[in-house]
Amino acid sequence: MKKLPLHIRIIIGLILGIIWAFISSYLGWNQFTIDWIDPFGTIFIRVLKAIAVPLVLLSIISGVSSLTDINKLGKLGLKTIVFYLMSTVVAVGIGLTLVNVVKPGKFVNEEQRVKNRIKYELWVSENPDVPQPKDGRSFLKEQKYQDLVNSAMKEGTLDSLKNTESSNERVNQLSKSADQTKNQGPLKFFVDMVPENVFGAFSSNANMLQVIFFAIFFGICLAMLPNRKVSGVIDFVNGANEVILKMVDIIMKAAPFFVFALLAGVIAKMADTPAQVLQIFKGLGSYSITLLVGLLFMIFVLYPLIVHAFIKKLSYREFLKRISPAQFLAFSTSSSAATLPVTMECVEENMGASKKISSFVLPIGATVNMDGTSMYQAIAVVFLAQLHMVDLTLGQQLTIVLTATLASIGSAAVPSAGLVMMIIVLNSVGLNPAWVAIIFPVDRILDMFRTVVNVTGDATVSTLIAKSEGELKVPKDVPANK
Ligand code: ASP
Repeated sequence: MKKLPLHIRIIIGLILGIIWAFISSYLGWNQFTIDWIDPFGTIFIRVLKAIAVPLVLLSIISGVSSLTDINKLGKLGLKTIVFYLMSTVVAVGIGLTLVNVVKPGKFVNEEQRVKNRIKYELWVSENPDVPQPKDGRSFLKEQKYQDLVNSAMKEGTLDSLKNTESSNERVNQLSKSADQTKNQGPLKFFVDMVPENVFGAFSSNANMLQVIFFAIFFGICLAMLPNRKVSGVIDFVNGANEVILKMVDIIMKAAPFFVFALLAGVIAKMADTPAQVLQIFKGLGSYSITLLVGLLFMIFVLYPLIVHAFIKKLSYREFLKRISPAQFLAFSTSSSAATLPVTMECVEENMGASKKISSFVLPIGATVNMDGTSMYQAIAVVFLAQLHMVDLTLGQQLTIVLTATLASIGSAAVPSAGLVMMIIVLNSVGLNPAWVAIIFPVDRILDMFRTVVNVTGDATVSTLIAKSEGELKVPKDVPANK
């Protein structure tokens, strides 16, 4: 087993976790899995997160303090933001194209969609500030539509059609957190970036952007001071950084087991029987498949090909092989923040990017660059509109590009954060935010895939930036089985 490369051992852990979850639910051992196996998954996520903050802090300080030219840092910062924004907009663009071409909403029963449309109109009439929706009957002949409306009315279902989703408690909770983000001024993002208490920034609700801000500031000052005064600090930072990297190494050795525990736990908590797990995908199948096609396209086509186009030595297979430990971890933890230590290790040691670049570009990416999340928001919002027979205008679709990009920047790098932020995207185009309840049942599983895209996007951008800065040395051997 030890001889197998790490990514293969992680895949084995992953598959065994899924098999275990199905067998244990079949045998009625779900509670056992939740009590005795799932906690190991939680331990894994906790330890990764615990390491992420000191890792980001120390590696940024160490990287920035070694820069001799501060102007270069400014340029690097600008390049990072521009690359990240571009990758997000491309992801949203692909998502929108896909969902408009495939029209996953069309696969849902027409009668149901007409009822949805009536429900939506009722909701619009109750909310005067929402703009009147466009006629959304492009999928149905006028006569057929009218017939279905008449039969819905005849059934006396109008009352029963009243908005049941909005009373959903979970949605109310989600709405509250989304509102908090929405009702903030335009500069709130920058205000939030500055910690009011350094130790607060490192606390359990660590705000990564605050840590990054403090680390860059500290690193710049360290670089400005004469070496004889601060050499002790520099030595400490570099030494402590090495210790943290060693910790990441050790944790990764145990990753296959922890990944097993995580997957077994996630599925055991999802539903009681394997049949129920499959059942939750029914009705949302067309949406899930469309989204998966988009996400898999990013992972298996777009990123590896872009990297290969710019870095000939990194062939399609090499790229995927070298980044795979981070991808599998992203899949099992559904959190880019928890995966960050491993993404950094993969980009530095397997891709060969210099520490200076990866320690600066990756933590920012884990926090603000979420290509998978933005694509998901675009596809989900348009699908929900189709499901309610609402046609979106070009203007609305462009609004989606903008808000999905901003919402993905604002999403925290933790499980299900993207779902909360989607409420803002729905609001921006006058759709009912309560609709998130519709896709909620399948969200946890899709979150796993979009987190892989988020992490791969960060790794791709940082590798390209390293290359463009002349800071990339592709190692000959793939040390993936370290
Ligand atoms: N789970 C995602 C991440 O951490 C965020 C999301 O889309 O919910 O990258």
